[in-house]
This record gives sequence, C-alpha cells and structure tokens, in this order.
Amino acid sequence: MKALIEKIQKLKSQKDAVILVHNYQKKEIQDIADILGDSLDLSRKAKGTSNPMIIFCGVRFMAETAKILSPDKKVLLPVFDAGCPMADMVTANDILDYKKEHPDVFVVSYVNTSAEVKAVSDICCTSANAVQIVKNIKARKILFVPDKNLGDFVKRRVPEKEIQLWDGYCIVHVRINKEHLKKMKKEHPEALVLVHPECESQIIELADEVTSTNGMVKFVKDSEKTEFIIATEEGMIDRLKKEAPDKIFYPASKPTLCRNMKKTGLEDVLRSFTCEQYEINLPDPIIRNAQAALNRMLEYSK
Ligand code: SF4
Repeated sequence: MKALIEKIQKLKSQKDAVILVHNYQKKEIQDIADILGDSLDLSRKAKGTSNPMIIFCGVRFMAETAKILSPDKKVLLPVFDAGCPMADMVTANDILDYKKEHPDVFVVSYVNTSAEVKAVSDICCTSANAVQIVKNIKARKILFVPDKNLGDFVKRRVPEKEIQLWDGYCIVHVRINKEHLKKMKKEHPEALVLVHPECESQIIELADEVTSTNGMVKFVKDSEKTEFIIATEEGMIDRLKKEAPDKIFYPASKPTLCRNMKKTGLEDVLRSFTCEQYEINLPDPIIRNAQAALNRMLEYSK
C-alpha cells in the first residue's frame, strides 16, 4: 500500500493536482485527501483551488459539481460508475414538466442531483445549508428535489413556506432502523445521538443534534461529551475517529454502507492519474445554468 501511495503522491505533484475526498469514502482514500469534507465544503474548495487538475473521490454528481464550479480545470472521477441512486430519482424533464403545470414554483435542488437537474433549478442546497437557503429565498412556493426526508426536515423548520416534496430518498439513510437506534441509546445512555437530515423523521425525532457530516465533526470536537451514536453512512465514523481519536463512536444501525461511495480504491486513484480518466465533460449551456444555481447557493449560504 505504501508503494501505491508514493506513486499517487508523485503523479499528483507532477500533474499539479488536488485530491478532493468525501467523508463517506474508504479510510485509505480519506488518508490521501488534500481536502476532506462534505458536499458544501468540497464545492467551495473546488472553486477556490488553483490546481489545474482535480481528482474527485466521491460519486459522479460531486465531480460534476466541481466541474461546474471550475470549468477550466480537468476534473477526474476515478470510478466511472460511482453514482448516487438518489440523484437518479429526478430528471431535468421531470422538473420541466412540473414547472409547466406550476409556472410560479421556485425549484430548490439538493446538491445530490445531476448537472442537468441543477441546470433547470433556481438554486441548489446541501444538507448543511438547506434550512438557511429556503429561509433566505423570497419565493413562497417551493419544489424541493429529490430528497423527501431532507425536504421534510426543512419544511418543519420553515413553516411559512409552501414546500412540495419530490418522492426521492437516500437508499442508505432510510435503512437506519428506529428500534436499533433505541437499543443503542439504552446500551449507551451517556452518548449523544447525531443524525444526518437524509434520515427519516422517526430517526430525526430521536436526535440530540441533526446536522451534515462536517457539522458532526464540529459538534464532536466542540462537545465535552465523549460518546456519540452516529446516524449516517458508516464511513463517517472513520472521519470522526481521525478528528477526535479520544472519543467513542457507535453506528446507530448497521449496515449503513453506501456501495457507490466505497467503490473507489487506491488502485483506481492511481489509474485515474496515469490514464487521466474518467474526465467529466459537460455541455457549456448546462455548465452556465447549473453554475448560476450553485453560485446562488454559495451566495445565500455565506
Ligand atoms: S449515501 Fe445516499 S445520497 Fe450519498 S451517495 Fe450514497 S446513495 Fe447517494
């Protein structure tokens, strides 16, 4: 493994590249990250970096987001079919059809969507800023796509808006089981429960804190408590252990593994560098329109 990492580091400096890694990636991939974070953090950093090449260890919509925000850079996704089932639950045509019937609706799309969906959306959001974005926009009638659970979480916190929810969901987060979480709470009465807002409302109701993955890192570091039950994709526990090695983490429920997020290995990253694959290419009009929705998000979540 050491030799593999050395080759990757050598190619990275030769090609002046930066490796962006999502919090749900395998530990070995998290360990080679230049920037490790959640979707919002990675979108901001992708925009800010000066390196001409970005290797994005995550799923396709994330690499597309990096390309949209940095169209002049070469953005590579190491595994071609690392996708997100939730992102596939809504298409650009679905939104255009909905808009035809509801011309006054304002479309808020979660960042977990394809570039084409972003391009027909009015604004994007992430789990870290969804409540803030919906509060800040002037429109009252909103279509929230694709995650009905995150949408419901936002709806409860911003009751003054009329929010229509799309019927999408994360196949990993809906697997988190309420009875198992209750059992974990009983077994670890001192532990605080941190829940990602992609979970169903019955899980959110049992939370001490509902937050994004980066929000979890901050919460754990700032907390005086030492034990935490984590309700999100299980790779997050590796990130938390790395950031707070003296604290103890329990998964709320198992298995909560995102197969797509775990497809990337060190060999894939090395191949991505040597063959410069798989490059993300998007048509200019898609980039322009999606960029407007993403830039609006970055502006509204400052
Ligand atoms: S954890 Fe859920 S939302 Fe995230 S990439 Fe996997 S399927 Fe998609």
